[in-house]
Amino acid sequence: MNLARLKKVRTALADAQDGRCCYCRRPFGDGALACTLEHRRPRMNGGTDDIANLAAACWHCNRNRGMQMHRAKLLKSQKSAAHALAVANVTLAKTALIEALTNYRSARATLASMRLLNPPGDTDARQ
Ligand SMILES: [Zn+2]
Repeated sequence: MNLARLKKVRTALADAQDGRCCYCRRPFGDGALACTLEHRRPRMNGGTDDIANLAAACWHCNRNRGMQMHRAKLLKSQKSAAHALAVANVTLAKTALIEALTNYRSARATLASMRLLNPPGDTDARQ
């Protein structure tokens, strides 16, 4: 959307909302209350510039909503990283257990072949 169209759409939306922010309902003004174009469904989540997806929001609400979404996204990625780590730890523990068991069996077999250890169930191996 080019700048001229953006301003036109923003003004039209602000007028349709009686000059108030779509979130906090405060009248648009300067600074934190400056009118901005809000994507109801963010572009990063597939939202478009279609008028049905746009609203006029004050700078403060628009910015905070963006930060909330960023925080939510960060939290979600932290949770999935923690889950992946837990799965990886279980896999590593299983692998270590299998390796230890394999080593144990191999050592027992070696000792048994050297007749230093009776094979399991064979109590008469040294006769
Ligand atoms: Zn607001």
